[in-house]
Amino acid sequence: MKIHEFQAKELFRKYNIPVPEGNAAFSVEEAITHAESLGNYPVVVKAQIHAGGRGKGGGVKLAASKEEAQTLAREILGMTLVTHQTGPDGRVVKKLLIEAGQDIAKELYLSLLVDRATAKVVIMASQAGGMDIEQVAEDTPEKIIKVFVDPLMGIQGYQVREVGFGLGLTGGAFKQFSKLLANLYRFFVENDCSLVEINPLILTGDDSVLALDAKVDFDANALYRHKDLLELRDLDEEDPLEVEASKYDLNYINLDGNVGNIVNGAGLAMATMDIIKNAGATPANFMDVGGGASSEQVENAFRIILADEKVKAVLINIFGGILRCDIFAQGVVDAARKTGINIPVVIRMEGTNVEEGKQILSDAGLNLISATDLNDAAQKIAAAVN
Ligand code: GDP
Ligand code: MN
Repeated sequence: MKIHEFQAKELFRKYNIPVPEGNAAFSVEEAITHAESLGNYPVVVKAQIHAGGRGKGGGVKLAASKEEAQTLAREILGMTLVTHQTGPDGRVVKKLLIEAGQDIAKELYLSLLVDRATAKVVIMASQAGGMDIEQVAEDTPEKIIKVFVDPLMGIQGYQVREVGFGLGLTGGAFKQFSKLLANLYRFFVENDCSLVEINPLILTGDDSVLALDAKVDFDANALYRHKDLLELRDLDEEDPLEVEASKYDLNYINLDGNVGNIVNGAGLAMATMDIIKNAGATPANFMDVGGGASSEQVENAFRIILADEKVKAVLINIFGGILRCDIFAQGVVDAARKTGINIPVVIRMEGTNVEEGKQILSDAGLNLISATDLNDAAQKIAAAVN
């Protein structure tokens, strides 16, 4: 679960991770009030969306006066911000962060993430921080330091020093950084983060170190033990169909293609997406209704996929194990009766109670295309959309 920069910075403050003074604003008036209360210009007007690259997209700007702060707040609030992370449709800006402008001497990069290969927390840092870190990683990966922390040992003093020296810090800045990194590690572990990225981490003209940006992603599977963090979820930033699917515990991810698919089991869903692709079509979503789905869940899954305008045909691929084929078929029939199907639907069903399931489908008199196996299903769905 991602959160906004202003929320991440509020959490950072609680962990003594230094951040600029600032406040979130939800209207132009509020933005001006916050700008004035900082007492000094320039202030920075920052778009709050769940995507990076805002600076390059025109979502982060410096205001030298109250008037300019007002102009920028008007311009950025409500704009559709397009960055390399939002995709071409962009994201409408509904919130701002108004922050005290900083005197930047150097922009550094610092992040913590879970490294699955080593089962450790990896700290990544670079002196080449700022807006082009992706390019640095691509062209000059040697400029990125990586330190792997064993979660059972916790972060060690020598590891903190390795990163601090690698960032070229000395004296007071080095000491400040050491505390910051130890606190950031604690923040990461205590909150079950999957990613914390500070880009840039800045060194100011008077040699202090602070987090100028903050990107935080929490492991959604651990949120049950962080009820307070759940309140930070912003549904405005999520795909509406994905939000709807999450209400029914459906594992659904919206994609770009035009073949909707409903599958039980994540592995089977991945395989189904592959066969769709192999047959020359493109999946519109990943949808796993789970091993033990009820017919209501199946109905909701079907409704959500049909609500997606880009879906031109639906492939249903069910292996009846814990989820019996007859239960599944009933869900499909109920959903089809309620929503009405006006696009081709191909069904491949195998496993427990498959005959009963097929009977329910054929008795319903719906216009469904039945497939004998995976290959046949793939060919039929590709023919339906191409
Ligand atoms: P991102 O583009 O979404 O990663 O947004 P950031 O928060 O990283 O801001 C982008 C860039 O804006 C930073 O790399 C800085 O160069 C610049 N910036 C942000 N805050 C300030 C500030 O207080 N003073 C100055 N001079 N530049 C700033
Ligand atoms: Mn940034």
